[in-house]
Amino acid sequence: MSTIDIEDSLGITFCERLPLAFTHGKGSQVWDEAGKAYLDFTSGWGVTCLGHSHPVVVAAIAAQAARLMQSPNAGFTYSPERAALLQQLQQVLPANLTNAFFCNSGAEANDAALKLARKITGKHKVVSTQGSFHGRSFNTLSVSRGPDNSSRYLPQLPDISFVPHGDTPALAAVIDDETASVIVEPIQGEGGVRIPPAAWLAEVQSLCRLHGALLIVDEIQTGFCRTGKFFAVEHSPVLIEPDFMTMAKGIAAGFPFAAFAVSAGVNARIQKDDHGGTYCGNPLGCALSKTVISYLLEHNIAGSVQLSGSYLSQAVLDLQAAFPHLIREVRGLGLLCAIEFHEPALARQLTLRCAEAGLLVVPTRNGIIRLLPDLLVSRTDMETALTILRTVLQEAAV
Ligand code: PLP
Repeated sequence: MSTIDIEDSLGITFCERLPLAFTHGKGSQVWDEAGKAYLDFTSGWGVTCLGHSHPVVVAAIAAQAARLMQSPNAGFTYSPERAALLQQLQQVLPANLTNAFFCNSGAEANDAALKLARKITGKHKVVSTQGSFHGRSFNTLSVSRGPDNSSRYLPQLPDISFVPHGDTPALAAVIDDETASVIVEPIQGEGGVRIPPAAWLAEVQSLCRLHGALLIVDEIQTGFCRTGKFFAVEHSPVLIEPDFMTMAKGIAAGFPFAAFAVSAGVNARIQKDDHGGTYCGNPLGCALSKTVISYLLEHNIAGSVQLSGSYLSQAVLDLQAAFPHLIREVRGLGLLCAIEFHEPALARQLTLRCAEAGLLVVPTRNGIIRLLPDLLVSRTDMETALTILRTVLQEAAV
């Protein structure tokens, strides 16, 4: 039986998959079982920020795996790798975020932030945004609002309000003194790369302060240089000082790892036994994440993403100009780029055609595809990807 047959019969499938199975990758390329090469403009859903099997990533994993992967007594003991990562993270976090905890996935980080915000404030209302995605755990599903995950597991958490992303008056109308937290993505990723007005995040922050609600900024997709800044909050013209910031994906370049960081005020209200987890802050993830952050800083990857991102955005805008009857809108910042089609079904059709032609893209809700290459993607690989996109658009246009 083939890999696909075995997975289809023995696994649990939650989405319609491409009939492809990959065996290895290098840089921006991956190879399937038949040996065919593809350009990976998904980077594993925005995860493999240094490309596939980058030598520094491989070396960090090998060195730490040979030393210690899981601390004895896990979080019950201290860890030099965790200490080193905590210090390293301080170099890149917003200055008000003084303490951090490491966990295993984005959903887990957001879940913990929502849970702790409820405990710290003694309130339980949450405001989130329409089109948001914060994860698939029960709490994070309750604060996510997209066409595919809004109402399948009713009843959800109570007293969650959703306002349009980027709409300050709508937030002002629902937030009140009973609101525990407001959770926002600085730029919506799964929602289709929705970039709010520049002033919005600061206005959200002011409303949170006014009502004693904690601000949870979800940087899971936008963090670690994806948008051309280390974190997307840095694009705000006004200093953003979140109460919680959640991180995952690029944080460890492909190893399942995540974190949430908190302000001193929040940290002062955290007590023993509020939270924990078997793998939280394991030495392997910590050593790797520290290596990734060092690499991003030493090579000024935020700066290079600004350059490669503007090249990609301009090239995709050129595609829109060439195919205005197919492409409704193009949105992007750094290497987070969305192409929205007039005809929603085209997104899936083009995803399949691109894959056949050797390019992997991310199909997203509502007739959108996203381009999320690794942050080291070369100009040549971007040109090849754009040539493939142009060809499949030309085919679709006839
Ligand atoms: N938050 C955002 C903004 C995301 O993009 C995602 C995943 O795509 C998550 C949370 C959930 O992260 P994970 O899949 O690691 O649980």
